Amino acid sequence: MTELFPPTRLEALSRLSSFVPRAGRDYATGRNYDLPEKGHPHVSQLSPYLRHRLLTEAEVCEAVLGRYSLSSAEKFIQEVCWRSYWKGWLELRPQIWADYANAVNMLDEDVHVATAEAGQTDIDAFNAWAQELVETGYLHNHARMWFASIWIFTLELPWQAGADFFMRHLLDGDPASNTLSWRWVAGLQTPGKHYIARSSNISKYTEGRHNPEWRLNTQADPLSGPPHPERRALRDPGEVQPGLRTGILLHEDDLSPKFLLEALPDAPVAAAALLSPARRSPGTVSAKILGFVDQAAADTVDRWQDRFGARGPIETSVDKIAEWAVTQGLEQVAAPFAPVGPAGSSLRSLRKRLDAEGITLTEVRRTWDNAAWPHATHGFFRFKKTIPDLVAKLGAETE
Ligand SMILES: Cc1cc2nc3c(=O)[nH]c(=O)nc-3n(C[C@H](O)[C@H](O)[C@H](O)COP(=O)(O)OP(=O)(O)OC[C@H]3O[C@@H](n4cnc5c(N)ncnc54)[C@H](O)[C@@H]3O)c2cc1C
Repeated sequence: MTELFPPTRLEALSRLSSFVPRAGRDYATGRNYDLPEKGHPHVSQLSPYLRHRLLTEAEVCEAVLGRYSLSSAEKFIQEVCWRSYWKGWLELRPQIWADYANAVNMLDEDVHVATAEAGQTDIDAFNAWAQELVETGYLHNHARMWFASIWIFTLELPWQAGADFFMRHLLDGDPASNTLSWRWVAGLQTPGKHYIARSSNISKYTEGRHNPEWRLNTQADPLSGPPHPERRALRDPGEVQPGLRTGILLHEDDLSPKFLLEALPDAPVAAAALLSPARRSPGTVSAKILGFVDQAAADTVDRWQDRFGARGPIETSVDKIAEWAVTQGLEQVAAPFAPVGPAGSSLRSLRKRLDAEGITLTEVRRTWDNAAWPHATHGFFRFKKTIPDLVAKLGAETE
């Protein structure tokens, strides 16, 4: 599947430029159609690239707004901003991720979950989506909504098990977008409001490919859960200090290091990457995801080699990266900011190791994230009022 989504920036840029002409009216009218047999022609399929920031949100918005006005491409720009909204929302409430991760750890093996994951239920549409997910690493947004709804309300399986299935197979599997979207379908994110999959809607938007009719439970109540935790202040990323021997550390949450290089007062002497995709789940994360992340990191290091100094390891082990920093005689390691999730946890562990060696680890946050995340306080409806301001800042830092 890595073949369907080659993990390079070149591929990401080429997809972006071929999608831009379709980001206006075509996207607004066609985006809800789930048409895998036609290659999902009405959506961008940029998510594996955006998730790992082989392409940034700002870059994608800038390309689209280079061709369309904000009002003509409003739907598409809003969808890109959903990604930033979810990230900000989770960053302000990291407990939600911790609770989800604990719940997944506590899940028992369940034959019904195994049957659903294998695509062997009596609902053909659901089975087809389970297979598409495993085979391609991608599902259309509408299919994700129907799948999650059927998982929770018709098959009555734990939502966390479904979210974990997605995290083990989606190339764009993202702690914020995935966890919060599953919670939204379940009725936990906007309490009392859940998403019920209906046959007529599935049939219309699959152009009659699927029609599960009586098999769906359309009468279920939303799930209930504890109130949202209190918001915390955004974590202070800190500042890179001048005059120190500095190494760059990449990770899979941000593989566009130009902004980081520009934030450094001095040129870096070395660069390495710490990758944590296997930590997306306590189960087995697909080889497609591991391969995508590994090759995407290698692509980034190759492209920036002449600005990076000595080439260091691309590693999954915190200990090995700590060793690299010591061997290189670093006084400071600078990394792109890692939000809540596996990469963030790995950087936390690394920080402890480096502190013990007297090496500072500083995360640098992008202009886009600084502008977007503080507004993710309530619902998307309120957040979206900040979109004109957000896109007005484009150009400050896109790549
Ligand atoms: C249950 C469920 C789980 C999901 N899990 C993930 C996930 O793990 N990772 C992930 O990136 N998205 C997730 N999504 C959101 C969305 O389905 C995907 O981002 C989108 O389908 C990606 O396909 P695309 O690039 O063709 O999207 P397009 O429609 O072309 O949209 C362009 C970009 O906007 C962003 N975007 C679009 N829709 C959403 C959305 N609803 N929420 C957040 N960002 C969005 C993505 O970055 C996407 O690449 C989930 C949605 C649901 C309902």
